[in-house]
Amino acid sequence: MPDSSFDVIIIGAGPGGYVTAIRAAQLGFRTAIIERAYLGGICLNWGCIPTKALLRSAAIYHYMQHAKDYGLAAGNATFDTGAVVKRSRAVSKRLNDGVGFLMKKNKVAVIWGEAAIDAPGRITVKAAAAEAPKGALGAGSYQAKHIIVATGARPRVLPGLEPDQKLVWTYFEAMVPERVPKSLLVVGSGAIGIEFASFYKTMGADVTVVEVLPQILPAEDAEIAALARKSFEKQGIKIHTGTKVTRLDKKSDSVTATLDDGKGGTRTIEAERVISAVGVVGNVEGLGLEKLGVKIDRGTIVIDGVCRTNVPGIYAIGDVVGPPMLAHKAEHEGVICVEAIKGLKPHPMDKNLIPGCTYCHPQVASVGLTEAAARDQKRDIRVGRFPFVGNGKAIALGEDQGLIKVIFDKNTGQLLGGHMVGAEVTELIQGYVIAMNLETTEEELMHTIFPHPTLSEMMKEAVLDAYGRVLNI
Ligand SMILES: Cc1cc2nc3c(=O)[nH]c(=O)nc-3n(C[C@H](O)[C@H](O)[C@H](O)COP(=O)(O)OP(=O)(O)OC[C@H]3O[C@@H](n4cnc5c(N)ncnc54)[C@H](O)[C@@H]3O)c2cc1C
Repeated sequence: MPDSSFDVIIIGAGPGGYVTAIRAAQLGFRTAIIERAYLGGICLNWGCIPTKALLRSAAIYHYMQHAKDYGLAAGNATFDTGAVVKRSRAVSKRLNDGVGFLMKKNKVAVIWGEAAIDAPGRITVKAAAAEAPKGALGAGSYQAKHIIVATGARPRVLPGLEPDQKLVWTYFEAMVPERVPKSLLVVGSGAIGIEFASFYKTMGADVTVVEVLPQILPAEDAEIAALARKSFEKQGIKIHTGTKVTRLDKKSDSVTATLDDGKGGTRTIEAERVISAVGVVGNVEGLGLEKLGVKIDRGTIVIDGVCRTNVPGIYAIGDVVGPPMLAHKAEHEGVICVEAIKGLKPHPMDKNLIPGCTYCHPQVASVGLTEAAARDQKRDIRVGRFPFVGNGKAIALGEDQGLIKVIFDKNTGQLLGGHMVGAEVTELIQGYVIAMNLETTEEELMHTIFPHPTLSEMMKEAVLDAYGRVLNI
């Protein structure tokens, strides 16, 4: 095969794209990946990873401020915004380099530039402004039997709320502040908005969150979201739900926002900076998709259960095919996609089994049906709950606020959903994901031995509670 010909070419080296490339190479495909900006995509460079690094700094700062609660003294805790951001960028850089290493290790060719599909099987790559990693192929024409679009997403822009990089930020600017603003308005209370609200509040900003829907973290179980809200408000975050930002008036170094509560009430609030966190939209433009007749619906590429578009030879995965816009969903789709191309028979994606995590303080995590969704589906359910205050490890950690909630089908004992708010729940949720994936029933969960003392014991207690057998509360 000439250097420009491959079995599989993936456009976009985010978590969806690069994992797809590795799996394709493992399956014996001659594989290339095209990237125009940064290996690792949004996730490693401007999303999942750098936010977690910022939140880690915030968590340590929080504990330093509360050192006395643990019998310790940390003096007068302070921070250096530049150093906090520098650490976060270094973490991203390390992982970005790691993707380069993984491509080499798996003999995946990296092509640097902006890709467009000329026809099924043919791609043109134009030079990109960003510096290419060492050894990458450059602009030119490339061929592949299978082209996988993994071009991800970018911030959604609402009219009147256009980001300007100075006063109105997206996640790009919010990730690298020169200093922590005195006051901050966060528009949108999904995971991205809430994580930034939590980070900036801990670092001392006066934070207001505005959400148009009736609850914050709209995808989460209402009871869990309400508990998270209570905790954020206790920390001093101001929250307005059922409220729209209707107007932004910019001054030289601040913004006045007009809020409409939908009941005829308006008010204005002043903030130094605004973060627009109103969702993301798929990068579907400039790829030649319209010309090829690839079906696009409301900004996302339409695919079937194994990630094929309606045009043979063109596939799509990750954020560009729609929600949930999560890295682990993108990765899993990529694996399904290439395994199906290989002729293996991967299980199609079950979206109900995709966990969601928000790494705020306290953390929120969930999988499966919320209580409301289960009731909407007319399922006969049993609900179990266990509060952190009844768990020894939570009390030892000084983290006794939170709840674990489970939803079972009353007739079959099938675990339908798990929902959590509290310390470290983003690490716990996978227990229920595995249980649901294995179609575990309440009996099996009740017979499972959980280590003591751990936060995970609450996962068993919540199950026991659903069946009237809770022990430690
Ligand atoms: C602030 C923030 C925090 C987040 N936190 C989490 C989290 O904690 N957990 C989680 O699961 N998800 C999180 N996400 C979402 C996560 O980042 C995305 O779901 C994930 O990155 C999607 O992966 P992807 O491979 O589909 O696309 P992306 O990561 O967006 O990668 C797409 C890549 O394609 C490249 N590209 C686009 N067009 C072209 C072209 N024409 N030619 C060449 N290259 C192109 C882009 O440069 C980019 O590198 C977060 C997102 C943000 C913004």
